[in-house]
This record gives sequence, C-alpha cells and structure tokens, in this order.
Amino acid sequence: MIAAYALAKQGHSVLLVEAMSKLGGFMSPIRWRDFWIDKGPQFFDNFEDNDRAFFDEMVGADLLESIGFSYASFMNGKKTDNFAIPDWRTRGPDFAKAAFADILADRIANPDPANPLKDISDVVMRDGGVALNAELSQLVRKFLRRTPEELGTAAGHMMTLFGRKLFFDQDVSINLKQSPLLDGILAAEKATVGETRYNLYPRGTSLETIRLAMEGALKRVGVDVKMETQIKALDGHARICTFEEGSVGYEQIFFGGDCRETEKQLLGTDALSQNTHLLPEIFHCFVVPTAAVDDAYYLIDYDPNHLSTRMTNFCNYMDARDSDGNGVICVEQPVDRETAEWEHPDRLQDKIFQEVRETGNVTCDTYLAAKSFPIPVTYKVPLAGFATAWDDVQNRIKDQFGDNVILPDATTLTRKQTMDNLRQLGVMQ
Ligand SMILES: Cc1cc2nc3c(=O)[nH]c(=O)nc-3n(C[C@H](O)[C@H](O)[C@H](O)COP(=O)(O)OP(=O)(O)OC[C@H]3O[C@@H](n4cnc5c(N)ncnc54)[C@H](O)[C@@H]3O)c2cc1C
Repeated sequence: MIAAYALAKQGHSVLLVEAMSKLGGFMSPIRWRDFWIDKGPQFFDNFEDNDRAFFDEMVGADLLESIGFSYASFMNGKKTDNFAIPDWRTRGPDFAKAAFADILADRIANPDPANPLKDISDVVMRDGGVALNAELSQLVRKFLRRTPEELGTAAGHMMTLFGRKLFFDQDVSINLKQSPLLDGILAAEKATVGETRYNLYPRGTSLETIRLAMEGALKRVGVDVKMETQIKALDGHARICTFEEGSVGYEQIFFGGDCRETEKQLLGTDALSQNTHLLPEIFHCFVVPTAAVDDAYYLIDYDPNHLSTRMTNFCNYMDARDSDGNGVICVEQPVDRETAEWEHPDRLQDKIFQEVRETGNVTCDTYLAAKSFPIPVTYKVPLAGFATAWDDVQNRIKDQFGDNVILPDATTLTRKQTMDNLRQLGVMQ
C-alpha cells in the first residue's frame, strides 16, 4: 500500500493487485470478545522525521500519535525496565565484566571479520564472544526453534539478542560510550543516547483505523485496486501482465507480496521456501484488570526455561480495554507444528500465565478469560542457504523478465526497514 501510494504521488498510473478480499495483510486486527487485538505488536516504530512526515501526509497528521518507547525484559529471575535486550548484569558483575572484556579483546584483535559471517552461529560468536556463546545459542533456539547453524544471518534482526549489550549501570555505560569503539558494544537508556526516533500508533484505537485511512489515501491519489486477483503470467519483453479475466500493459512491476510466492509465480520453483522456516506461534490472550498490568508496552522473556518470548500489553496502548477496567495482554509462544502444543494450544494457558506473573508483567493471581490463537506463520525466518538462493532467484527473474521487475529486499522485517528499502529502490522518495 505504501509503495502504491508513493508511486502514484510521483505521477505514475498505478494498479494495485491484492490476492485477498481486504487490503492490509498482517495489519488487519482480530476481533476477540469486545476487543480488537493486533496480530503481534504492530508499532510503526523506529520512524525518523521523514517517515513520520510521509505517514502524516498519507493518513492524516492527527491519526498516528508518538507514544514513545516503553518496554522491559526478564532474565535470571529479574525484570529490567526500559530495556528490551537481555540484561547480562543479572548474571552478576563478574560475569558481565568478563563478557565485556572478552568481546572487547575480540573487537581489538579482529576489527573487521575477514570472512562474511555464514550463519547465526558466526553472528553469535562475533556478537557475544566465547562468554555469551552458550546462552545466546540457547536463546536463538528458544525464539526461532532452530539451531544457530541452521539459520541465515538475516534471521538476526528477528530477535532482540544482538547488538549493544547491557553490562554496566547507566552512569558507567554512558561514560564508557564516549569511546566510539565501546559505544558500539555497550547499551544505555534511549532517552540519554538522544536518538530522534518515534514509535507511532493510533492511540486508543487499533490498526484498523490506519488500514482504512490507507485505503482512503489510495483512492485519493487515484490508485486502481484489483481485489481477490493474482497475476497468472508475465511477459517481460512485451511487458504484459495477465490475470484470470484479462491483461494489462505495464512500464514497471513491483512485487510487494511474499518473495517466496513471487518466485513460485514467476519461475515455478521454490528455492526460497526450501530455505525458509515459517515460524508458528501460539498467541495466548488473557483478560486481566488493567491496574494489574505493568506499564511497559511489551516485555521480552529471556528465561530459557520459559515458553513465553514476548508479552505484549495491548491494553496499554490500543483499544483492548473495556469500561469495567479490564484489558488484554498477549503472550507469544513459538512452537513446532504437529506437536501436542500446536494441536491443543490452550492446554498450556495456566503455565504461560504463571510465567507472566513470574516476570512481574502482571500482579494479579489469575486471569478473567483466556484464548489461545494458533498462528501458522509469524516470522518467515531465513535459513542458512537463503542468501544464495535469493541471489539466484533475482538473477533468474532478471534474465527471464528483464529490468522492469522490481523486487524489494526479501529480508526486511519492520515497516521502517521496508520503507528504507523502498527509498533505495526509488519507489519512495
Ligand atoms: C509477531 C510479529 C510482530 C511484528 N511487529 C512489528 C512491529 O511492531 N513493527 C513493525 O514495523 N513490524 C512488525 N512486524 C513486521 C510487520 O508485520 C511487517 O513489516 C508487515 O506486515 C509487512 O507488511 P506488508 O504489507 O509488506 O506484508 P503483509 O502484511 O504480509 O501483506 C502482504 C499483502 O500482499 C498480499 N499478497 C501476497 N501475495 C500476493 C500475490 N501473489 N498477489 C496479490 N497479493 C498478494 C497479501 O494478501 C497481503 O494483503 C511484526 C511481525 C511479526 C510476525
């Protein structure tokens, strides 16, 4: 929708083709009881001024509000506020110091790794050194249900495990971060770091408001929309695109859907699917008194013995609360398909709720209602062979259909990353 809008604003005549009966994809919320709930945390996060200006212009300046960043993490029996990353201080000061020294020694010895990192086991080693290797590897398995060796490096941004680390308290960290080398290794609270990034959300409603406003924006700029339609064939030389009910000519064609489907559609092969792990999760939704819910928008659970990965307090920022003072929280549990958990998603509700209590995300002893939604596909996790397969698919598409087929980066996750990629491609300005 963003690509179609941006292209129309540049003066192109745009036809948007949507396979389903509704635009918006993952952005459509689910209705449960009297609540609208998102399919996972769905913030417009890490937006910079130009992203915000684009959205304000597209959907109206008063719709999305900057709601700030508010998160917590849980590790070694302790909750840490204001950080979604693992808090290594919970392992004790000696452990944190030794891990820091280990990473620092490695960065001094190897400022630029000679070989490209081949899979997540290399990322784990580069990121956390020997000291954090075992724990990071265990957390990778917990979050993505695959070993680090099985996963492509692009899977790294589907977890909040890598990058700057929490080893020391705020004052010490800020002091050390004055060195550019140490700044790259150590984390400190966002407000103090002085980044101008926004977390936008239509406060008090749900993403449905934005979805509708985006539909309206597409109409306003004259984007033609074909619903419940898919491309049947493409002639890259004559530049003709064929659907069930006829054909249209095109100047350029942008594939905004899933790259795995694009490969199947255009080439009839499935190398990208073979190299992707579609992660199923159970979303356990609980109704609890909102007064018992922690202030954070979400908490990431780094306890390797817990099944929960992220607990999102929908009631703190969206319309998932009622006039009786109750609201919804949602707990993500990554699972494997064809297991007892997958077949009977609500069996583990009580265990999951105990984890929510243990992390300190709620203070109430029990919940008022619960429902566990099995979601067959959440993250589309690239496996170790994905990057090579993607290069090959791009080359084959170029050979067969020419330069007028635009393919977005297949490994972006968030909207911010996707929008940055659209700018690189010239789709957005
Ligand atoms: C658990 C979870 C939490 C997340 N949280 C955040 C977050 O907080 N912030 C954030 O920025 N991102 C988040 N993301 C990522 C975010 O969901 C994606 O960036 C976003 O959904 C991408 O939008 P999209 O429209 O490109 O793709 P989708 O939402 O997948 O929509 C694709 C659309 O294309 C259509 N389509 C597909 N194939 C075809 C075809 N062949 N022909 C015609 N139509 C087709 C589909 O029907 C659909 O309407 C999260 C993801 C997950 C899994």
